[in-house]
Amino acid sequence: MPPAPHPPSLPAAPHPAPNGVSLLTVPGWEALPWLWHAFSTRRGGVSVAYAAQESSGELNLGFTADDSRENVVRNRQLLAEAVTGDPATPLVTVRQVHSAVIVTTGPDAPAQPACEGDGLITAQPGILLGIQTADCVPVLVADRRRKAVAAFHAGWRGTVQRIVEHGIARMAREFGSQPQDLVAAIGPAIGPCCYTVGPDLLSAFQAQFDDASSLFHTVGNDLRLDLHEANRRQLLAAGLAPQAIALVGGCTACQPQLFFSHRAAHGRAGRMLSVIGIRPH
Ligand SMILES: [Zn+2]
Repeated sequence: MPPAPHPPSLPAAPHPAPNGVSLLTVPGWEALPWLWHAFSTRRGGVSVAYAAQESSGELNLGFTADDSRENVVRNRQLLAEAVTGDPATPLVTVRQVHSAVIVTTGPDAPAQPACEGDGLITAQPGILLGIQTADCVPVLVADRRRKAVAAFHAGWRGTVQRIVEHGIARMAREFGSQPQDLVAAIGPAIGPCCYTVGPDLLSAFQAQFDDASSLFHTVGNDLRLDLHEANRRQLLAAGLAPQAIALVGGCTACQPQLFFSHRAAHGRAGRMLSVIGIRPH
């Protein structure tokens, strides 16, 4: 096995929005004025379920057992407002089940929250697609020419099932997306510095990817997996150029003040949302 990889790039400084919500955006994507996007952090918002005692509130965006529905609804409105300027911008999510199921949403096929899946694609302006994570890898994709967008949830199960490759193939089928027109961003997720896994994952990845061994390294007795890199390789395999792929935010478990991390919080964590959409005319 190769030596330990460098940890993923450190986060860009999150931008605090006027409403107090702190977001990460992708360097260079401001050149796409038609595009809405952001990776949320835990900063801002009204949740106290996961907050240190003195904290005024956090941006938990998942309907978790520890938090109230009202708080999460309010936080989702604050996120929408910070990204689009309008707290009422519709947010489309799916019930995530660690699959490779991709849901297309649009005027004729609106995704419902009850809809199961781990990827969302659309060419419909005026809505935000949202993928919920707290260590798993969120991947956002935009087609600069066709003006279509996608959001994928890639934990280890989704990664082994190649959700990102399947999702980009769906964009090609449904919107005519060409790889050279796509840009992608891999958001905050547990890094190879912290993601200790069992040998069953090594076997699962080796059964699926020729180059799987180079995604793993050992530290003492710990086997560690690089899910950021596994998904970057899927984007490359789908035909994206290396320079079209941004790594944003680094490791969730290394930065507990900035991100919710399921692993770092021993399973009791809030959720972040990675959102992308097409600005209406
Ligand atoms: Zn880490």
